[in-house]
Amino acid sequence: MRKFKTESKKLLDLMINSIYTNREIFLRELISNASDAVDKLYFRSLTDDSVQINRADLAITIGFDEAARTVTVSDNGIGMSKDDLDKNLGTIAHSDSYEFKAAAKDVPGEQEGLDDQKAVDIIGQFGVGFYSAFMVGKKVRVVSRAYGSDEAWAWESDGIEGYTISEAERAEHGTDVVIYLKDDADEESYGEFATEYGLTDLVKRYSNYVRYPIQMEVTKSRMKPRPADAGDDYVPEFENYTEVETINSMVPIWKRKGAEVSQEEYNEFYKTDFHDFEDPARTITVHAEGTLNYDALLFVPSRAPFDLYTKEYKKGLALYSSNVLIMDKCEELVPDYFNFVRGVVDSADLTLNISRETLQHNGQLRAIARRLEKKVKADLAAMRDDDREAYEKFFEQFGRTLKFGVYTSYGMAKDTLADLLLFYSAKQKKMITLDEYLADAPADQESIFFAAGEGLEHLAKMPIVTTVLAKGYDVLLCTENVDEFCMMALGDYAKKDGDEERAFPLKNVGSEDLGLTTEEEKKEAAEATEENRELFDVMTEALGGRVEKVVVSTRLTDAPVVLTTEGAVSLQMAQMLKNAPG
Ligand code: ADP
Ligand code: MG
Repeated sequence: MRKFKTESKKLLDLMINSIYTNREIFLRELISNASDAVDKLYFRSLTDDSVQINRADLAITIGFDEAARTVTVSDNGIGMSKDDLDKNLGTIAHSDSYEFKAAAKDVPGEQEGLDDQKAVDIIGQFGVGFYSAFMVGKKVRVVSRAYGSDEAWAWESDGIEGYTISEAERAEHGTDVVIYLKDDADEESYGEFATEYGLTDLVKRYSNYVRYPIQMEVTKSRMKPRPADAGDDYVPEFENYTEVETINSMVPIWKRKGAEVSQEEYNEFYKTDFHDFEDPARTITVHAEGTLNYDALLFVPSRAPFDLYTKEYKKGLALYSSNVLIMDKCEELVPDYFNFVRGVVDSADLTLNISRETLQHNGQLRAIARRLEKKVKADLAAMRDDDREAYEKFFEQFGRTLKFGVYTSYGMAKDTLADLLLFYSAKQKKMITLDEYLADAPADQESIFFAAGEGLEHLAKMPIVTTVLAKGYDVLLCTENVDEFCMMALGDYAKKDGDEERAFPLKNVGSEDLGLTTEEEKKEAAEATEENRELFDVMTEALGGRVEKVVVSTRLTDAPVVLTTEGAVSLQMAQMLKNAPG
């Protein structure tokens, strides 16, 4: 028995004992190793004439035995010698990394105990490699034969103290990793990993775009040939048979040029990969070459996922490096206000061992994110201009996210978002952009007017709204909670006329002075207020402090009374702020 090196033992403890729920990544890791091994042999054949390889023969094979509860990942790659087995599987490749050391400090028995969150982080964010097999296996046996050697060796371990290496047989160069699955416990079922469905599902999810074929024997059903003597009442019979199939798709759809791929294929990919029943509303492809090479395929869903507006929702794009999935949802790749965008980014320039910590400071990743944000913006703007009906549907689903974006970024995202917003126009009785509002405004108009409150009908009947409309100005009717905050964060909106820009302040018609009354009108109202002083004092008193003051308004056309607030905050918002928690 050979003992594991200290750091390896710590990582193994972490693997075996952690509550990490994502155990299924073990298959991704083993397939990625198999793919590396095949790569190594292939590259050697390119530089070494004595190595004769037919690329078409290179493959990864997955086998399973449901009854014996084993899963086998085989490759015909470079293989490992006895020494390689000892060196490569006895120590862990990542043990010198900062994050690993930090997490390993918390292994049980060492100090205070295992920090589950840290374990999840290192297992989830790293390529944790070969040892992940021990998350699902009680025993792992590796049989390997190095290319050019005629001996095979078996490495075997229960992942606890150490491992053994003994002589073995293997017909050809390459490696088999056999996992003996753990026994099922109360809440854990490992058995499903040794089924055709379980394995196919994992390959499709995590390793679909590995560039060598991943083959597995699958069960199929076919109709038996009709017997020659079958009568009219013959019922067709079916039989099962098995066939070796390539279960990964190999060429990533995002690497193929847009012209070669039909919208149908994109739709299928989107629906399978992102578990949606509907086709995406938009498909955006990016192929960047230069200082930073990457491909991206982004989708705007047709419908908001049910949890989009909850805390549970996690934004992010899948991040691949050289066809291997690094991360399911890399948050850094999309800003909050485009959190509904789904998709994939693949860059060979990023390494597989990228951790969350390094991600945040990764300049390349930020450069990709900035470029993608511009792409999404441009695509939405194109939809707004070219397919208004679709855009309005989109806005119905995701408009709130954009408005929140303006608000939560304190207006920083204004340049990106403001011209994407739609509001209901009281005058035109439809959704319009701020540009459309200004295009329709009379020459003497100096502000953009909006009213905020519950219900379009209610807002449209508000005396102050009808008054402003009567003067020939449009009013945007804002019925969502976020609208007023969004408007305040925007502050103003610039009308662009060639090179010239003129900012129009956004004014809430519920606030007192809209600047619509002439000095003359103001004077008359003030005089009327003075004349009726006594009456108004009685009214103020009768309302028992529920109003500040009663005055003669210049803002009414045909309604007898209007309730209003002073300053920029509307009555509705004052109400909301009052009810807000904290
Ligand atoms: P990494 O893949 O990041 O190097 P792993 O823990 O996954 O780390 O694997 C450790 C090492 O074991 C690999 O670097 C490789 O040398 C060796 N190895 C693992 N699986 C195979 C395989 N199927 N064929 C050849 N070598 C392998
Ligand atoms: Mg690996």
